[in-house]
Amino acid sequence: MDEIKLAELQRISDSFETATPQEILRWAIETYRDKLTMATAFGAEGCCLIAMIADIRDETGITPDIFNLDTGYQFPQTLALREKMQQKYGIPIRFVQAKETVQEMEARFGGPIYKTDSDQCCRIRKVVPLKDAVQGFDAWITAIRRDQTPERATAPIVGPEPKFNLVKINPLANWSKQQVWDYIKANGVPTNPLHEQGFPSIGCWPCTRPVAAGEDDRAGRWAGTAKRECGLHLSDDGTLTRSNKTLVGSAG
Ligand code: SF4
Repeated sequence: MDEIKLAELQRISDSFETATPQEILRWAIETYRDKLTMATAFGAEGCCLIAMIADIRDETGITPDIFNLDTGYQFPQTLALREKMQQKYGIPIRFVQAKETVQEMEARFGGPIYKTDSDQCCRIRKVVPLKDAVQGFDAWITAIRRDQTPERATAPIVGPEPKFNLVKINPLANWSKQQVWDYIKANGVPTNPLHEQGFPSIGCWPCTRPVAAGEDDRAGRWAGTAKRECGLHLSDDGTLTRSNKTLVGSAG
């Protein structure tokens, strides 16, 4: 992505600092139309965005692509929620799967590798399938909030995603967890029942545990290891999405 385009994305991102998630989503949907996609694991934020997208679809007639990375290790409650969301909002949600099944992968490695090499496991079951799934799209929506973790605190609202050659849009960047749950309650949005059992962030069952009071929302993901992200939101240098300013400054 050249410097002019990066500067333009930064200008757009700055202009959305006081916008609502719905305003940001509407801009994204009307700008990128059928070249816009979104990956979701049906966390509270993802469900909130799907409900907002359904409202905008009703007004504009445009439905962006939505998909779920079906790793083979998702909780049954997550799989059931996908059905519920499709039925309630009438939006098809694609299942995107790795080339080999969990059984085939575990046979190849002599057993599960989520404990011994979680980076490799995430690469096979999430990052590679996601790279394939976003081919042909120009932009993707994520459910990142800045106050989720220190790593996410500098995420722009609109910025480049060099790893996948996409524009990355984070409509909930400025929303708090409370705002997400207020929206969910006010609009009757279905959510994963595991949230009520102490799981604020839900990924694959082998790598997710409930969090204790005072821990950050993602503390239950890959608990006991230094891993904080599965790789979907990491640049090749291992950092989370860098600010546009940093990228503009380093683009030359
Ligand atoms: S989160 Fe765990 S089980 Fe899921 S792909 Fe990554 S390492 Fe494998």
